[in-house]
Amino acid sequence: MKKSDLLYEGKAKKVFKTNEEGYLIVSYKDDATAFNGVKKGSIRNKGAINNKMSNFLMKILAKSDIETHYVEELNDRETVVKECEIIPLEVIVRNVAAGSLSKRLGLAEGVRLSMPVIEYCYKDDELGDPMVNRYHIQAMNIATIEELELIEYLAFKINDNLQQVFNRIDIELIDFKIEFGKLKNGNVILADEISPDTCRFWDKHTRMKLDKDRFRRDLGQVEEAYEEVYGRLLKYQEELA
Ligand code: UDP
Repeated sequence: MKKSDLLYEGKAKKVFKTNEEGYLIVSYKDDATAFNGVKKGSIRNKGAINNKMSNFLMKILAKSDIETHYVEELNDRETVVKECEIIPLEVIVRNVAAGSLSKRLGLAEGVRLSMPVIEYCYKDDELGDPMVNRYHIQAMNIATIEELELIEYLAFKINDNLQQVFNRIDIELIDFKIEFGKLKNGNVILADEISPDTCRFWDKHTRMKLDKDRFRRDLGQVEEAYEEVYGRLLKYQEELA
């Protein structure tokens, strides 16, 4: 498959058209932003790590009948994905209080929630991705109730699968953000990425943060954290093989 015109350039990825209908090529960058683009920087090797980690996790999810946009890894930074219409929602799943939830509800970071929580943010940079609920989403025709039921079923299933994987490599999955897209046939599939940019990963024993919070909060050892999670996943991948 050949890359053609640049379709879209986001904060962390570029998306290209291809010579084949229905397929796009995603190219992951090392650029890092936080707080809606206010904080800018670069994390060495992040593009390659996020590309490979996301592809590995999506392949695992596919085994549990979760349809994803993943098609083929072309090289360290580039992957062929199915073209889909992104549903403009950040679907956040939380197992442990952290970040904005801790602030909003006054829960200390690290307190386990008695059940996983789903939150939605409407993807709109100008509005700063405001939090919305099922009613806003239906009222604004962003998704139907049937699509939301499916999205929540898939989000919990993804959470179960990811928690199992990360538990095996001594990482606590605190929370994560996923995005879904719609294929022309109406199927709702998992799109975007699953990486330390979009998840909170804490070491199970030391509770050291191994994710983008190191960049957001200037905690140092940013590259090392990304490498650490990826290294543990690679070892797990080798054990599976
Ligand atoms: N998240 C993300 N993109 C965003 C906002 C959040 O990937 O634009 C992820 C974030 O990495 C974390 C989860 O969603 O794993 C919950 O983030 P939270 O709402 O606590 O926001 P934050 O504290 O990062 O502003």
